[in-house]
Amino acid sequence: MYNNLYNNLVVIGGNASGLAAASQARRINPDLNITVLESGKYISYSTCGLPYFISGYVKRAEDLLVYPKDFFEQKRNIKILMGHIVVGMDPSKKELLISVGQAQENKIIEYDKLIISSGGTNIIPDIPGIDSSNVFQFRNVSDAENLKDYIDSNNPKKAVVIGGGAIGMLLAEAFNQIGIKTTVVERKERIYDEFEYEISTILARKAEMDGVDILTKTSITSINANSGQNTATIEDASGKKDLECDLVMLATGISANTGFLTDTSIELGINGAIKVDNKLQSSHMNIYASGDCATIKNIVTGKQDYIPTANNAVKTGRIAGENAAGGNKVFNGSVGTVVDKVLDLEIASTGIGSKEAVSLGYDAIKLIDGFSSHAGSVPGAKKIAIIIIVDTTSRRLLGAQMIGGEGVGKRIDVFATAITNEMTVDDIYMLDLSYAPAISTVWDPVNKICGKAVLALDKHNR
Ligand SMILES: Cc1cc2nc3c(=O)[nH]c(=O)nc-3n(C[C@H](O)[C@H](O)[C@H](O)COP(=O)(O)OP(=O)(O)OC[C@H]3O[C@@H](n4cnc5c(N)ncnc54)[C@H](O)[C@@H]3O)c2cc1C
Repeated sequence: MYNNLYNNLVVIGGNASGLAAASQARRINPDLNITVLESGKYISYSTCGLPYFISGYVKRAEDLLVYPKDFFEQKRNIKILMGHIVVGMDPSKKELLISVGQAQENKIIEYDKLIISSGGTNIIPDIPGIDSSNVFQFRNVSDAENLKDYIDSNNPKKAVVIGGGAIGMLLAEAFNQIGIKTTVVERKERIYDEFEYEISTILARKAEMDGVDILTKTSITSINANSGQNTATIEDASGKKDLECDLVMLATGISANTGFLTDTSIELGINGAIKVDNKLQSSHMNIYASGDCATIKNIVTGKQDYIPTANNAVKTGRIAGENAAGGNKVFNGSVGTVVDKVLDLEIASTGIGSKEAVSLGYDAIKLIDGFSSHAGSVPGAKKIAIIIIVDTTSRRLLGAQMIGGEGVGKRIDVFATAITNEMTVDDIYMLDLSYAPAISTVWDPVNKICGKAVLALDKHNR
């Protein structure tokens, strides 16, 4: 517990990171007045579960709400103000300008210390027709409810998803499951472009096999619903053509949601994210930031990065909350671990990819191989493809990526732990990983691919 040097802690954002921050501040300092300001009508929701509400796997949006407002107010003595949008601030006066409710009434709220956990915001492409009523974005419960209402009332038959990253593919899967014929339009060379070529190719093939069309090196140039047509115009190297669609989903990436800080001197970094140090403190002493609106240290590159994941949001929130309440904890950073389940395939990544390794000046090698998720003696084993990136000089693992039918999540976490602790492939090769025939093989695929790397390095360095 810390002494009270001040009294009034305000948190902007009532989801993963903001509530982790407020809760930790309360745990260590029972005397603080803690207020969370949330612009929307929901707090504490599972953003990551929202695609399952669209596919119908999760029946009600309420099922994705984690803790109710009363829980924070009564059990944690944290005041929650919903419908409170922070529209500006004056750090010199420690004041926030708030717009409240539908009436958009303005009010000022003062703070002694502030934690900004305002998340990310969707990047909206500037194309004609983007404001049509059949165009949707997807970041929160209200977005999911709007989309679901539209689907239930309009029974769309064809959808275009703009953007072939994780969110786009999760929604393409959800649409496919409820019988909406879906085309993913991706302007880059491939979907899941932040993954190695081999991994994203396996996913693209699976998508096509499952009936989701993938168009790469293709851009949307207009959405034509406003002019009465249910089409979107796309353009690739061969020219322009119209695609039929009654629903357009935007999944064109996010940036940090920091627009309301534009007139302040709070320093912003990569992707508009609030620059923070390893204590989650911003360029202003009394202001902390966490989650998708803040920069994060990449443990592998040592640089400030933007890694908007829920796993990072809750941890950075916890540290920001502790420090804003008087603590002195350090957040060491992230290795960028992500895992998704798309079209019955688990796909995961941690550390850096081969291109990044080269651009950072590593003499790196990339190894790829296929494995069985568990022993052949027990039916039902699935294939897993693993790629690892290894520094030939230090023999350290720099990155790992995987795709497969099962057992990917378990294994990516081993790689994440190894990268965080700067382990060499020699160490990981002999790591004591669990075995039972229904779960793994006696040499786990993690051991095996690192064994392969050891052989390659020995040859390379001979
Ligand atoms: C569809 C989808 C699936 C995802 N799946 C995964 C996954 O499987 N695994 C994973 O790790 N990550 C996943 N993510 C990312 C993950 O949801 C985010 O990293 C996480 O929610 C970030 O938490 P946060 O609290 O920083 O931001 P948010 O969850 O965005 O919360 C920010 C809150 O601040 C409020 N707010 C914003 N501006 C203001 C303002 N000016 N005034 C007041 N309140 C404001 C917002 O309304 C919001 O409630 C997914 C994201 C999406 C969209």
